[in-house]
Amino acid sequence: MAISRRQFITLTGAATLSLASGHAFGQPSKGRVVVIGGGFGGATAARYIRKLDPAIEVTLLEPNPHYITCPMGNAVMAGFVDLKSITHGYGGLRDQHGVMVIHDLAVDIDPVAKKVRLQGGDTLAYDRLVVSPGIDFRWHEIDGYDQTTSELMPHAWKAGNQIQLLKKQLHAMPDGGVAVVSVPKWPFRCPPGPYERASLMAYYLKQHKPRCKILIMDSNPEFPKAHLFKRGWEEMYPGMVEWISSERGGGVVQVRAGEGVLINGDGEATRADVASVIPPQQAAKIAQIADLVDSSGWCPITPTTFESTRHADIHVIGDSAIAKPMPKSGFAANSQAKVVALAIVAYFNGEAPGKPSLINTCFSFIAPDHAVSISGVYRLGEQGLEGVRGSGGKTFFSGDVAAEARIAKSWYKNIIADTFG
Ligand SMILES: Cc1cc2nc3c(=O)[nH]c(=O)nc-3n(C[C@H](O)[C@H](O)[C@H](O)COP(=O)(O)OP(=O)(O)OC[C@H]3O[C@@H](n4cnc5c(N)ncnc54)[C@H](O)[C@@H]3O)c2cc1C
Repeated sequence: MAISRRQFITLTGAATLSLASGHAFGQPSKGRVVVIGGGFGGATAARYIRKLDPAIEVTLLEPNPHYITCPMGNAVMAGFVDLKSITHGYGGLRDQHGVMVIHDLAVDIDPVAKKVRLQGGDTLAYDRLVVSPGIDFRWHEIDGYDQTTSELMPHAWKAGNQIQLLKKQLHAMPDGGVAVVSVPKWPFRCPPGPYERASLMAYYLKQHKPRCKILIMDSNPEFPKAHLFKRGWEEMYPGMVEWISSERGGGVVQVRAGEGVLINGDGEATRADVASVIPPQQAAKIAQIADLVDSSGWCPITPTTFESTRHADIHVIGDSAIAKPMPKSGFAANSQAKVVALAIVAYFNGEAPGKPSLINTCFSFIAPDHAVSISGVYRLGEQGLEGVRGSGGKTFFSGDVAAEARIAKSWYKNIIADTFG
C-alpha cells in the first residue's frame, strides 16, 4: 500500500506505540480488521478488539482529526456546555491501544477481494471489516432543503459547525420571535433529540428573550418520553413550547429558507425567525456505495454478530444498521460495537460467537438540572433482537429529575472514556 506523508506521520505514532503491544515482541498477527468511522460505534469496536486480543491488527479510518459528539450538542446550543468539552481526539486509541488511525475517507469497499479504497488513493486489505459511518441526509426530500439551505436553517444533526451556527442564530433571535424544530419521519438518529433541542431552546430563551415561542413541527403522531417532556415544558416554560403532531399538520414538506418559511402537507406556511430543520435520514454514503443497504436505505444485519446480510465478513453497527428495537443512539452503537468486538475476537481464535446482550439509555435534558431517561436491555429472541421483558423503563413521573441530570453528565464522561480510551 502506498502511504501519503500525512498518513505516514499518523501511522508512525501508531507503530511507535505498537512497539509496546504484542506485535513488537514477535507475536504473530492473528488477522487484520479495518474499521470505517471513528464515532461511537467504530471507535469502541477498534478499542475493544485491541483490548480483548492485542494480536489482532486494527486500523481505524476517520477523515476528521477530532470527533465532536452530538450528545451534549443541544447543551452547547443553549450555552451551558462548551464545544471544547465535547471534542475528542484519537490519541488514546492510538497511543494506549495500538490502533492504527488513518485520517482518510473510505470511498469504496470490494467485499470479494476484501479491500477498502481510500480517498487519498490507498487501498487497505482486511480479514474483517467493521462499518460504522453514521447517517447521511435525504436531501431534497423536503422541497427546497439541501446542503446550501441548511446553512440558513441548520439541522445540527451531525455535530460541529452546524451546532455553532444554530447557537448563533438562537442567540441573535429577536424577543417575541418564533423558533421551529422540524422533525422527520422515523427512523432517525436520536429519537428524543428534537424534543431535547426544543426544551433547551426554551431554557435559553426564557432567560434572555422570554416572549419567544418554540414550535415543534413533527412528521410523527407521537414521540418518546412525551409525558415527561410535556410536564417539564408546563412546569418550566409555560406557554413557550408547542408540539404540532403529524395529525395536526406538523410535517414539513417544503421550505423557503431565504424567507424563513416552512410549509406543511396542507400548504400552510409558518414563518420562523430560527428554524432547525432535521431532514429525513439514511445510512451514510459509504454504506450506500458498498451495497450494504436494502430498499429502506439502512443496513440489514444478523443480530448475533451484526454481520451484514448482504456481504460476508462485514459487520455494520451504529446508526447505519437496522437493529430494531434498539434506537439509533451513541449508547446503542457503543453496545453493538462490543458485541462485534467479541464476535471478531472469537472468529480469529476459532471460537463460536456468544449470544448477544445489549443495552441502551437515552438521557434528555429539559434544563441543565432537569433530565429524563428511557432505558432498554436487549437480547436475541426468535424474531431477532427483542427487549428483555421487565428491564429498562422511563423516569418515573415523580422521579428525581435533578439526580437524572447528574447521572446524564456522568454517563457522558463514562461513555467518552469507554469509546475513546
Ligand atoms: C442532537 C443530538 C443529540 C444526541 N444525544 C445523544 C445522547 O444523549 N445519547 C446517545 O446515546 N446518543 C445521542 N445522539 C445520537 C448519537 O450521536 C448517534 O446515535 C451516534 O453518534 C451514532 O454512532 P455511529 O458510530 O453510528 O455514527 P457517528 O457517531 O456519526 O460516527 C460516524 C463516523 O464515521 C465517519 N465516517 C463517515 N463516513 C466515513 C467514511 N466513508 N470513511 C471513514 N469514516 C467515515 C464520520 O466522520 C463519523 O466520525 C444524539 C444525536 C443528536 C443529533
